[in-house]
Amino acid sequence: MARTPDVSLETSLSRLSDWDGVSVFEPKIPLCAFEKNELYTLLTEGYGVKKFRVKQIYQWLYHHLVDDFDEMTNLSKALRERLGKSARVRTTLAGIGHIASDGTTKFTFKLFDDAVVEAVFLPFETRNTLCISSQVGCAMGCTFCFTAQMGLVRHLTPDEIVDQVVFAKKWARDRDQNVSNIVYMGMGEPLHNLDAVIKSVAIFKHEDGLNFSRRKITVSTSGLVDAMNTFMDESDVQLAVSLNATTDIQRSKIMPVNDRYDLETLMRSLKVLPLDKRQRITLEYVMLKDFNDTIEDAQRIVKLTKGIKCKLNLIPFNPHPGSPFETPEEENIEKFQEYLRSKKVSCFRRKTRGRDEMAACGQLGEPGERPLPKHLKKRLEILHSDRMNAK
Ligand code: SF4
Repeated sequence: MARTPDVSLETSLSRLSDWDGVSVFEPKIPLCAFEKNELYTLLTEGYGVKKFRVKQIYQWLYHHLVDDFDEMTNLSKALRERLGKSARVRTTLAGIGHIASDGTTKFTFKLFDDAVVEAVFLPFETRNTLCISSQVGCAMGCTFCFTAQMGLVRHLTPDEIVDQVVFAKKWARDRDQNVSNIVYMGMGEPLHNLDAVIKSVAIFKHEDGLNFSRRKITVSTSGLVDAMNTFMDESDVQLAVSLNATTDIQRSKIMPVNDRYDLETLMRSLKVLPLDKRQRITLEYVMLKDFNDTIEDAQRIVKLTKGIKCKLNLIPFNPHPGSPFETPEEENIEKFQEYLRSKKVSCFRRKTRGRDEMAACGQLGEPGERPLPKHLKKRLEILHSDRMNAK
């Protein structure tokens, strides 16, 4: 069933009218918030633009990746000026944050309200993946995650999500590279911002625009089961789910979402998700030393994943300030993986990237002076005290 678009011309205008006093952004309609058919309606009905011109504008946005109407040289000067008065090509101010020793590059995006989100470009041998953000901060409060320390500041709009990919593609193009894959694994819980994520996915996939294959886009969730079911009904891209623990007691200690959707509920839902023949759910498993890295955990994973079309992604924990966790020893990670493979669990290990520049998984964001969210503070205190007692 089609969802009501969350960014109509009216809502865009009313949202943008709140931008008074903002220095670097003008309150204009963000063209990258619209799917092609919506853009067609907006430009033909709102601006009287001819149909073939809409196609040209769409190509300027997503093939040529321009930043400004002035660059749309096959449009008349009068049309460019008219569009420029009330619409915008770019929504964010992008900058390159850090380049880690392995080539991982962190981009920062300043938003209209001075909030900042991050995206990470990860060059691999056979592909370049862009990890993008869907929220400023995150409400989910996972205790192993740096972004969680910010709490949720706000959802990103579709154009703020799209801008991350357009900027990175342009940056990569200038270096004779490309962005081949998109993963929604940066700041935020994508399925907590469901409408904007669904819309941005549609924009990424459109064959006249960025034209990403559905197999090259992965949306991840901490396990919001209802939103996950809705998402899978409405979108056909790849799904990743953070498992991270093998018992409810253990999982609730690190992921408050488990109090709402326990392991049984989550795994039962994964079993019946509508997947095509080749599709597999990726189960993410952040490995935390002396917490979830034992052979007993591996044994429970074998049971939990039975009957689920999935592959397991092991992610050795990436340390960050204030965390009660450490990275497991290499030997333990290898034993864990070997055990799972011996039991025919499809199991991979995610290579750690960008750790030296806080660009690795779970390291994004800038909590600044903001106090820790209460629910996170309480859980972290318990974990720190468990750790002290174990010593
Ligand atoms: S791991 Fe993901 S869902 Fe959990 S707090 Fe961090 S950003 Fe949010």
